[in-house]
Amino acid sequence: ASRVSLPPFSGTGTTSDGHRVPLLANVGSGKDAKAAAAAGAEGIGLLRTEFCFLGRDSEPTQEEQVTAYGAVFEAFPGRKVVVRTLDAGADKPLPFLTDATEPNPALGVRGFRTDRSSPGVLGRQLEAIAIAAGAHEADVWVMAPMISTAEEAADFAVQCTGAGLAMPGVMIEVPAAALMAEAVLSRVRFASLGTNDLTQYTMAADRQLGTLATLNDPWQPAVLQLIGRTVEGARAAETAAEPGQATAAIKNVGVCGEAAADPALAVVLTGLGVNTLSMTPRALASVGAVLATVSLAEAQDLASVALSAHTAAEARSAVRSRLPVLEELG
Ligand code: PEP
Ligand code: MG
Repeated sequence: ASRVSLPPFSGTGTTSDGHRVPLLANVGSGKDAKAAAAAGAEGIGLLRTEFCFLGRDSEPTQEEQVTAYGAVFEAFPGRKVVVRTLDAGADKPLPFLTDATEPNPALGVRGFRTDRSSPGVLGRQLEAIAIAAGAHEADVWVMAPMISTAEEAADFAVQCTGAGLAMPGVMIEVPAAALMAEAVLSRVRFASLGTNDLTQYTMAADRQLGTLATLNDPWQPAVLQLIGRTVEGARAAETAAEPGQATAAIKNVGVCGEAAADPALAVVLTGLGVNTLSMTPRALASVGAVLATVSLAEAQDLASVALSAHTAAEARSAVRSRLPVLEELG
């Protein structure tokens, strides 16, 4: 098969029959955001705010945070920017916030859980995000990492509202939150699937251990089932939330884990009902090109193929063999 060089991403993610799937970027700084805009990203689906905190021994000041977030918003005027609040702990330890002696850091006080052990840091971060958002035109959404229960989602939403941030959401990266998606999503406006952690926790396989890569694979049918279940929960939460309205308030379910950067898996995710895909900017062109070759109905068929496989390898090869365009892309 010959390898074709791809044109840059056109800037509008769609299936062949015009179903829109905005393609967003994962970034970790203002510099990354500029590069993502140049690569054609439609917005930011994951701003990892750790960049502002890592390598420091104390919390950055509000002013430092406002400047750092503002640099990202500036690169996407009028566009969606999803800011993830601090995800300290586990693979992202922070000396002033997390406990390095925890026996099992991936299951410890990480992500949103640090709001209990170190109250105030999250509130100050939300204020900084709100100030930066107020000074720029970006459409700013805010989400919490490592949410496990509907109560945590509700707690986060209340804090966002208190800070004047109108679009609170959660990351779905714990299997319990995926299973309870309807209850979780009824508390917030949107969800973003963190497939890196969702895979690690579903398969009980450390994402940092290369020797467990076969288990730690987002093509695992168990992971795909949880993604499907999350979408179903979100749709149910829409109907339950606005019973009197003619059109339900759509609860966006995105994917911002590495799964979204695999073009074949991006098609499966679309078929499972995911609304937006966020990825490393260098994957935008190939994901956009493959998505444009399938209709929504074909993507749904491919999602069924993947869901009915018994192994990750079987799911991957069955879907890939039905997407001949992948051969051309090399
Ligand atoms: C994820 O878990 O999929 C994710 C996007 O977050 P991170 O990789 O930063 O944990
Ligand atoms: Mg994660």
